[in-house]
Parts: sequence; structure tokens; C-alpha cells
Amino acid sequence: MTHMQNILRLIPSVDDFLLALLQNSEFENIPLMLLKKGVRVVLDNQRRRVLEGHKVEPSDLELSVLLEKIQLKIRELDQPAFRRVINGTGVIIHTNLGRSVLPGDVLSQLSETSGNYSNLEFDLATGKRGSRYSLVEELLCELTGAEAALVVNNNAAAVLIALDTLAREKEVIVSRGQLVEIGGSFRIPDVMARSGAELIEIGATNRTHLKDYRNAITPNTGLLLKVHTSNYCIIGFTSEVSNKELAGLGKKHRIPVMEDLGSGCLIDLSPYGLKKEPTVQEAVASGMDVITFSGDKLLGGPQAGIILGSRDIIEHIKKNPLNRALRIDKFTLSALESTLRLYQEPQTVFERIPTLNMISTPIEVIQHKAEQLAEVLEKGISTCCTVQIAEVMSRVGGGAMPEQNLPSKAVVLRPLSMKINHLEEKLRKLDIPVIGRVENDRLLLDMRTVRSDELHLITKGLRQALA
Ligand SMILES: *Cc1c(COP(=O)(O)O)cnc(C)c1O
Repeated sequence: MTHMQNILRLIPSVDDFLLALLQNSEFENIPLMLLKKGVRVVLDNQRRRVLEGHKVEPSDLELSVLLEKIQLKIRELDQPAFRRVINGTGVIIHTNLGRSVLPGDVLSQLSETSGNYSNLEFDLATGKRGSRYSLVEELLCELTGAEAALVVNNNAAAVLIALDTLAREKEVIVSRGQLVEIGGSFRIPDVMARSGAELIEIGATNRTHLKDYRNAITPNTGLLLKVHTSNYCIIGFTSEVSNKELAGLGKKHRIPVMEDLGSGCLIDLSPYGLKKEPTVQEAVASGMDVITFSGDKLLGGPQAGIILGSRDIIEHIKKNPLNRALRIDKFTLSALESTLRLYQEPQTVFERIPTLNMISTPIEVIQHKAEQLAEVLEKGISTCCTVQIAEVMSRVGGGAMPEQNLPSKAVVLRPLSMKINHLEEKLRKLDIPVIGRVENDRLLLDMRTVRSDELHLITKGLRQALA
């Protein structure tokens, strides 16, 4: 028998581990399937190490040693794959971290409507079948001034179904300066191709004039499209056609005009140090026939694609068979309605919608959080890590407001006897992961995107990571 086989024979049996695990009260309520998986993963890993010729001592294969590894693995496996994290990146609408955080008021309504039966498609006034779309349409129209509205799964879906309905096998005129690629290599020209519309590019990257649109119109033009360049900006010698001019041109030629706003901002954020973005209400007032935007960017609600427009056009889009495929689910509908209801009270909307709250948090409040955290950390971990407060820049994110920074404060950590990437990894692997930004061998935790009630979780997590 070879040395390898001898070593492999030392590994205790799966049953030995299961027996040991079941004697521990921590594991008695974990499904057997999960316990077995944990054992299998660790043992397979050990066998592979032996077979690959790594140095493995008999003492490494003792039951107690492996059991500890297995317990760690099972604790990891027992966590939901999809869970909360603490966002210390300072990017408010962080696409990878779930974009907008839902308001508390929204969560309670969400549990009410989805933890019970609901009137999703039941008209309580008549007792007959109702339409799910009618539940938010009126509210959207009241808030934005639009004539009609429809909500689908996300804004990409909104753009797709609008193009498919209005411009299938027709030409769509777009400025070269607005051929946007969103995240995930999702490009406006590709969406158009999929909808069966033909893209007619006009103008130059930096400048497009009304006459460019006018000259491109043919009997087969289905739509004039404007795409808000939400994730980049063209600066310098530039010129864009205003909504009013474009709407006028569309009316004259009886061609609908659409604007993909990207981020649906219902409130002017310029008092908070951000550049003035066109609000949804302004886009509606400017005469656009169709407007699309996301529910989970600046609106601060759930993922959704909102389509506003004239009654004719919205009815037409509703009847498109794609609408059934892209339709909004009851969770989204409920969360979107409660988010929109918060906008009915403009005095409290900044308090109640986390995305708006984080954008508008005064620097003194952020500074205070940084001081609170730094003070506790000074006491707890200063023997293994330096703790400082630094001025940093937060970003709105989510492809909204590029190049615009919000002055903020971060707690800056520099471990004394650990590589910074190792600390970053340990924080990422906590039960409640803490995600920061690594810069110049330091870990930055921007306090703009961290809530006060998360500070103690960071302290606990850091203690654990540095232990
Ligand atoms: C973000 C964005 C989209 C996509 O919206 P989703 O809700 O992520 O599908 C489309 N167009 C523009 C201009 C955007 O900024």
C-alpha cells in the first residue's frame, strides 16, 4: 500500500462526524442534508490535498481537527446565499450591493400585502376581476402630471417594450451622443435591435442639432428617441436639442417622441450640492410622448421600470404580448406604491427614503458617525490597527450623476500586522459582511452609506476580523 493510501485511510468516516455533530446542540436543528454537505466538502478537500501531494500530517486528519473545519463550513453553508451587507463604500445607489435600500414604511406594507392574500387583480369596488396596473397608475399620474402610466420589471424592459410597440420594423432616430451602454454591457443599440427597430444615428458625438433630426425623418420613422446620458457626460464644445424643440418636431411630423430618463428623479437635488438633473415632472411637462425610468435609482424604491405617456400610447403598450412576459410582480407593485405614497408628503420624503436621506445627510451628521465609530475602535482595536478620520468623496452611483461627488467622512483603518487585502477579505466574509474601499494600503469606511444602528456591527465585525 502506498503512503498516500495509508494517509487517506486515516480520515474518519462521514458517520463519525455526523454523530459528533448531532451531539452538539448548535447543530441539532440544522438539516441533515446540510450537515452531510459540510462534511463532504471538507473531506473531499482533504483528500484532494493528499492526492495533489501537499504535506498532510496524520495529526491534521484527527477527528477533532477536521470537526472544527467542518463546523466552520456548516455555519457558512447554513447562511442564506442572499443576505444583508454593510455598505462602507460611500456609493449610495450601489448596483452590486442592491441599489436602493427600501424605506421602512415600505417594508411593513410589503409584508402586509405579500404575507396575506391581496387584491392584486381583484377590484374591491365591483367584486370583479381587476387590473394590477391600475393600483399605481393614478398615483404616478398625480405625482408626475402624466396622462397614463404602466410599470414593468425594470427600465431596460420599459425601453424594450416601448420600442417594440412604437417602432417595430420602423426607424428610430437617436443622437450619436446618447448611445448609452448601461452596466452589464447592456447597450441601447442592442436593445433596439432586439425590439426590431432600426437605429438611425444622427449628429456628432458632441453636438446634435434639430436639423439633424429633421433631415433624418422618413415616411418610415417610428420614433424620435432621447436617452439621458446618466452614467457619463460629454463636456466642452457640446450641444443637445432641448425636449421642447424635439417634442415640437415630433408633433409637426406626427411622430412620437420618447425619453429614456434612466434615473427617475421626482425632486430637484441641486440644493444638496448635485447638478440639476431633469426631473420626471419636467420631462412630462416638456411634451415628451413617452418617458421611461427606473424604480430603484434616484426614486429610491424597488427595481421596476416605469413608463409614462399619453393614454393612447400606454394602452397600446399594455396590449403588447411582451407586457405579460415583463410584467411587474406583487412585491414590486406593493413596494412601489408605498414608495410613491411617501412622495405625497414632500416635507418628510428626505427623511423616509434612504436613498434621498443619504444624498442629503449634512456633513456634520456624517462626521458625528465617524467620530462615534473611531472612538469605540480606538478603545477596542488600536493595538492592532490605526484608526483615523479622513475627508473623502461619496458618489450617488447607479449610473446616476457621473462625475459628481458629495463631500463625506470616512473611518480609515490601517492594520499593523496584517495585509490590507487580508483585512478586506475577512470583513467580506463576516456573517454580516462589511464592504469598504481599499486605497493606498488603507481600508476606508465612508460613513455616508452606513447607518448609525450599524456602527456596533462594524465594531463587532472588526474585532472578529482582527482577532
Ligand atoms: C439605468 C439605466 C437603464 C436601465 O435601467 P434598469 O432599471 O437597470 O433596467 C436604462 N437607461 C438608462 C439611461 C439608464 O441610466
